[in-house]
Amino acid sequence: MAYRVDSPSLRIPLNQSIWKILDLIFPPSCPGCGLIGERFCFDCLREIKTIDKDFCLKCGMVIDNYFYHELTTCEAQFEHLLMIRSFSLYMPPISMAIKKFKYHRDIGIADILANLLVELYNKNKMDIDMVIPVPLNPKRIKERGYNQSYLLAFPFSMKINKPINKQALRRSKETRPQVGLNRHERLLNVSEAFVADPQQVKGKNILLIDDVTTTGATLEACASALKLAGANDIVGFTLARAVPTKNGYSDDLIETASV
Ligand SMILES: [Zn+2]
Ligand SMILES: [Zn+2]
Repeated sequence: MAYRVDSPSLRIPLNQSIWKILDLIFPPSCPGCGLIGERFCFDCLREIKTIDKDFCLKCGMVIDNYFYHELTTCEAQFEHLLMIRSFSLYMPPISMAIKKFKYHRDIGIADILANLLVELYNKNKMDIDMVIPVPLNPKRIKERGYNQSYLLAFPFSMKINKPINKQALRRSKETRPQVGLNRHERLLNVSEAFVADPQQVKGKNILLIDDVTTTGATLEACASALKLAGANDIVGFTLARAVPTKNGYSDDLIETASV
């Protein structure tokens, strides 16, 4: 079977030079404050509240009096994942950056968002063999034109000098968008949605990358497929963690508006 891994190399400077040239022709604007000429300005980046304390060591969710968290069931819910970590809660300004990246084709911001994942990686040093982006279903890729998880995972893997592998895990069936579904419905929707190649993942420690975690059901479904194929430890990293609200999750609003 074909075995391909994109290894990080001297592509970082090349990648960054391309964006610098494009920025001169089409000046970007900061998703937080609108400042022209900045992809994500320093002040807005500093505004992002990172998840550094009072979080669940398994799923990474913030635990305090406001966010209800079922500690007892968390281990069972994420039985195939070693842990999930997110850089921040899904709220402005990072939510605005993700929205621009995901729904408004501002793919140039991926490199800056990947830096946030590097920060997360540096806080959670681990022994990993490969980075795998969460696969998007082919219909979505056709609509959007790109898989945002891959666009994050690619520069991230180069920056941490680990191989990226986007062939090892794929969608095995069409899933409907997770928007508006409760946790149980989300689990049913994504269960067995992925399939992994044992030849590529057996015995490997894997870091899964996605842009946003809502319930963690997608990451857990990926981990389940990877474990079935013989993978060793699996960790999920995302930029942002959706906040449970009265009506669902904090990422539903934007998804409903954009799908
Ligand atoms: Zn700004
Ligand atoms: Zn938890």
